[in-house]
Amino acid sequence: MRLTRYFLPVLKETPAEAQIVSHRLMLRAGMIKQAAAGIYSWLPLGYKVLRRIEQIVHEEQALAGHLAMLMPTIQSADLWRESGRYDAYGEEMLRIKDRSGRDMLFTPTAEELITDIFRANVSSYKDLPLTMYQIQWKFRDEIRPRFGVMRGREFLMKDGYNFDLTREDALHAYNRHLVSYLRTYERMGLQAIPMRADSGPIGGDDTHEFLVLAETGESEVFYDSQITDLKFGDREVDYDSVEQCQAVLEEFTSRYARTDETHDEAKFADVPEERRRVARGIEVGQIFYFGTKYSDALGATVQTKDGEKVPVHMGSHGIGVSRLLGAIIEASHDDKGIIWPEGVTPFHCGIVNLKQGDEEADAACEALYKALTAAGLDPLYDDRNERAGGKFATMDLIGLPWRITVGPRGLKNGVVELTSRRTGESEEMPPEAAVARIVEIYAAHRG
Ligand code: ATP
Ligand code: MG
Repeated sequence: MRLTRYFLPVLKETPAEAQIVSHRLMLRAGMIKQAAAGIYSWLPLGYKVLRRIEQIVHEEQALAGHLAMLMPTIQSADLWRESGRYDAYGEEMLRIKDRSGRDMLFTPTAEELITDIFRANVSSYKDLPLTMYQIQWKFRDEIRPRFGVMRGREFLMKDGYNFDLTREDALHAYNRHLVSYLRTYERMGLQAIPMRADSGPIGGDDTHEFLVLAETGESEVFYDSQITDLKFGDREVDYDSVEQCQAVLEEFTSRYARTDETHDEAKFADVPEERRRVARGIEVGQIFYFGTKYSDALGATVQTKDGEKVPVHMGSHGIGVSRLLGAIIEASHDDKGIIWPEGVTPFHCGIVNLKQGDEEADAACEALYKALTAAGLDPLYDDRNERAGGKFATMDLIGLPWRITVGPRGLKNGVVELTSRRTGESEEMPPEAAVARIVEIYAAHRG
C-alpha cells in the first residue's frame, strides 16, 4: 500500500475522551472512530488488524478440529424464553420489536441458537463429538462502556460451542479449547494466563478466564509469579489425545491464579510469599463447561449406543476478538506509539523515502516495494512529500515492527537502513539484504 492512496486519519492532538493508552493510540493512529457510546467504526488500519486477529483465531480453531459457521446477530426472543434467560439476562440485553410487534433481541451470546440448531439436526451419538464456532458481533448494553474497544457495547467475539456424549468427552473439549487458546494468544504476541473464574450469566461448573496482565486491566488478579514463566511455545499437542490436552491443562492451571471473584486468601497464603503477586488483568477470553444446562432446558438429546436418549453435554468458549486490539496495545507500546507484534501487524514493514522526488530514492523505494510484495508481504510505503521527521513519527505511531529507510546518501554507498520498532536499533545493508531479512523474520511466524 502506498500511503498517498491510503486512508490514515492520524490525529495530532491527544483525544481528551480517552483515558487509557490503547484507546488514545487507536484514535490517534486512525484505527477507529466512535459512532455512538461503545460503538465504533473500524477504519482501514484498525480493520486490517482486526482481520489478522480473526485469521489467527480461524487457523487455530481449524487445527483443533472446530467448524466455522455464522449465526445471525438478531434473534427471536422465543428461544430465550424457552431457556429462561430472556428475563434473567436483564438490562444488558438490547431488546427490539419488529414491525409485527414480535420480541427480538441483538444477541449477547448464542447458546440458545446453537442448541436449537443442534436439536433440529442431531439425534445420534454417532454425530458426536461436535464443536462449532463463529466470529460474530455481539451487543451488550454495558452500563459503562469505556476504554474504547476494550469495553464496547457492540464488540466482535469468537464464540464456540461443544456438544459431547458424556461429561468426560465434554471435559476433553474444555481442555482442547484451553490448549488452542494458549496457542492463539501466543501467536498474537500475548501472554494470557488462564485463571479460575466465576461463570456469571452463562452458568456452569468449570470455567477459566484468560487474562493479560496490564495496569489498566479491569480485573484484580492474584497469582503465583511462577505462572508467568510458562510458555506454550512450539510444542506439538495432539488435540485428539485426552492425556496430552489434560497434561497441558494441569501444567497451566495448577499454580494459584485467580480473579477477585474466586480469590481465596487462605489458599493464596500457601504460595511462598516472594512469589505472591497482586496485579491487574484484561480478560481476553473464557472457557466454560456447563454440562446439560442448555440441553435440558431446550431438549437437546442424542441416542446412545444402547438406544437410550440422553441430554448432550455442552460447553461454550469465547475470545474477545475486538478487545484483543486494545489488550495487545496495552501490552506493547511506548511513548511514541504502538509496537505491533509480527503476528498481528497491519503491514509487515514500512518503507520511508527520505527524499520523495529524488529519482534514485524513488526508484529504490519502488524496487523494495515490488520485491517485498512479490515475496508475499504487505509493505506500507510512505511516499508522501513530507519531512523525514513527520514520516518517522507516523511510522512509530502506527507501530509497524520493521522500517526500511531509503535516502540518497545511503544509496550512494548501496545501502538502506533497517530499523526495529521494538528496540529502535538500525542496521545498514543493501536493499536486497533488507528484503531477505524481513522475509526471514515473517517466515518464522506461523500462519
Ligand atoms: P466481562 O467480565 O469483561 O464483562 P464477560 O465475562 O461478560 O466479560 P464473556 O461472556 O466471557 O464476557 O465473553 C467472552 C469474551 O468477550 C470476554 O472474555 C471478553 O474478552 C469479550 N468481551 C466481553 N464483554 C465485552 C465488551 N463489552 N467489549 C469488548 N469485549 C468484551
Ligand atoms: Mg468472561
